[in-house]
Amino acid sequence: MDIADTAQRILAGERRALARAITLVESGREDHRKDAAALLEELKGSGREALRIGLSGTPGVGKSTFIEAFGCFLTAQGLKVAVLAVDPSSVRSGGSILGDKTRMERLSRDPNAFIRPSPSQSQLGGVARRSREAVALCEAAGFDVVLIETVGVGQSETMVAEMSDLFILLLAPAGGDELQGVKRGIMEIADIILVNKADGELKSAATRTCADYAGALRLLRKRPQDPEGFPKAMTVSALEEEGLQKAWDEMTALTDWRRETGHFKARRAAQARFWFEEEVRQSLLSRLSREPIKGALETLAQQVEAGQATPSAAAVELMQTYLGG
Ligand code: GDP
Repeated sequence: MDIADTAQRILAGERRALARAITLVESGREDHRKDAAALLEELKGSGREALRIGLSGTPGVGKSTFIEAFGCFLTAQGLKVAVLAVDPSSVRSGGSILGDKTRMERLSRDPNAFIRPSPSQSQLGGVARRSREAVALCEAAGFDVVLIETVGVGQSETMVAEMSDLFILLLAPAGGDELQGVKRGIMEIADIILVNKADGELKSAATRTCADYAGALRLLRKRPQDPEGFPKAMTVSALEEEGLQKAWDEMTALTDWRRETGHFKARRAAQARFWFEEEVRQSLLSRLSREPIKGALETLAQQVEAGQATPSAAAVELMQTYLGG
């Protein structure tokens, strides 16, 4: 691939070049990784900055309906919107594919929108690392808002939060008075909780659920990156396109405040460090699984099993022989 040419095309907003570049960053091939790194390096100085919004929710809460409605709402204001997905399921049985264009038909036809389904890799770590690079590509291509969709299971939310400026948790109205078993950790990374389906018969349940979450959020320790009143819970109806303006107003108010106070920049800096460390960790792990380290590791492991070496001595030996320390 001609890196300089591709970079120019991406900067010019050519969607085909963007799509090809995302395919490149998703590839695991060594030569592709090198090209991808060079391309990202080339685009680093574009000076363009999108608002990166992570969006999580369990299957069925209305993520695609919301993204379709919210995405169209944003493009109607002249904003360019990219939608990416981080899908942790290695085998997609039953569940729908995140970021699937057929679930967002109107948005996928919108010339100011770009939708990209989740790469089909088996490892969440791999998917997330590549998605982060796809976010950077969309940013360089001039998108104003990048929505990163994920489902509310396991580690995927943390990963998405690490590549987002804002993290939105989408919930459905609860039947009873219990808080839907939403994990505390997720509440702690959410900036805004949107209780969806606040329409028709579900409206009063949605209002109640929203009040419950607002109460639960008030009990959390105040975070330095939040102004008064955040994180907050509000109701929306993706189906009836209600509450979108208000949700957007809150998102921009929070973002403006964070920009003014330096929290926006600080978060991106901390994220850059996180991904650097993650890349180093992953590179080391992949070296461990390649020869000659793989074989040496197995030999030492057998010695440890047989009681011929202690676990720590064997580890020190491996490190000294192969990693210089
Ligand atoms: P996802 O799995 O989170 O992407 O959820 P979907 O967007 O596919 O929506 C799941 C179901 O909930 C569909 O039948 C939608 O029509 C319905 N749904 C989504 N948003 C709303 C809403 O705001 N109100 C109501 N009443 N139903 C909704």
